[in-house]
Amino acid sequence: MQNAAVPAFVSIPAGGCSVCGVVPSTRGQIAGLADCDGCGTPGTAQVLARGVTEAVGWPGTLSSWVAAAPRTRLLRVGDPTPLDGWLDRLPSTAMVELADQEAGRLAFADATWDLVAHTSWPRVRNLPAAAAEALRVVQPGGSLLIAPRVATAALTEPSEVWHLGTDVWVPLLHAGARDVRIVASEPSVALALIARR
Ligand SMILES: [Zn+2]
Repeated sequence: MQNAAVPAFVSIPAGGCSVCGVVPSTRGQIAGLADCDGCGTPGTAQVLARGVTEAVGWPGTLSSWVAAAPRTRLLRVGDPTPLDGWLDRLPSTAMVELADQEAGRLAFADATWDLVAHTSWPRVRNLPAAAAEALRVVQPGGSLLIAPRVATAALTEPSEVWHLGTDVWVPLLHAGARDVRIVASEPSVALALIARR
């Protein structure tokens, strides 16, 4: 774990949906208790959307970022998400299923992508190996974004299936990430982790 920084926390502001910007009529709609009034995106996916814009340094919503036709090369790994309708419009993007769940092997050369969004993290069995493999295909300075399901009490433990706990960011630092930022929401329904290569 060299040059490992402790995680920084980014919370979703109460300014509205992180996909379309519509301000919810009740506080609970911001993150997960109801879908967005404007675009219908669930709160958990809004957290992921904020992770994407945070990872690329875009100050606005996901929809405004997509509309700007960014040059970001985005690889999505794993399960479909409610954001795919937006992200499919990016000029340079691809989506792959995870062929090898154990190591999360990816059929791309080193440093091929600016951002890798990993949405099947809950099923990955060897987190350090999967993190290292995902970071391998990220351009230096780019980021790996993961959307884990976490337990609020247990710590991460290797077992038959990994239980992702409040130390879920540790394997990312062990895999060589320069730092990890955590995107959270209030009320808390999901986390997105941004590991910078
Ligand atoms: Zn919305």
